[in-house]
Amino acid sequence: MATNRTFTMIKPDAVENGHIGGILNMIAEAGFKIVSLKLTQLTTADAQAFYAVHAARPFYGELVEFMSRGPIVAAILEKENAIEEFRTLIGATNPADAAEGTIRKKYATSIGENAVHGSDSDENAAIEGAFHFAGREQF
Ligand code: ATP
Ligand code: MG
Repeated sequence: MATNRTFTMIKPDAVENGHIGGILNMIAEAGFKIVSLKLTQLTTADAQAFYAVHAARPFYGELVEFMSRGPIVAAILEKENAIEEFRTLIGATNPADAAEGTIRKKYATSIGENAVHGSDSDENAAIEGAFHFAGREQF
């Protein structure tokens, strides 16, 4: 059953480039409620585990290094049909293919450094959110 929640990260590239405020503003304007929010950093092991599904891909090492190189913003977001709605808001993985008006179109610089993460299923949203936030940090 859909939980109406998704998990997102503002990735190290977007934090480095000063886009936390701009991205949170787009998220709020799209009608998402912020359930949890923090500035944090993934360890190498965290990034390896988070993207374990891509372990066999040629870009895995680069991806792990990128995702752990600096702070990220982690957040749980709530909206009806959150997973799909948020994937639409962030746009295609490769910013060159991202639609006008999407976060990645505006802020991503490449397929590897693409500004934001969005969960791909309710099950993963729950796992990813619980990794970063205790129950008392979810509002
Ligand atoms: P995310 O899971 O971060 O929200 P996504 O679901 O759009 O992104 P995935 O296929 O899950 O895309 O890939 C995870 C991440 O791996 C991408 O966001 C990107 O940072 C990186 N990545 C994917 N494909 C490539 C590629 N061909 N070259 C370099 N990096 C890539
Ligand atoms: Mg993904």
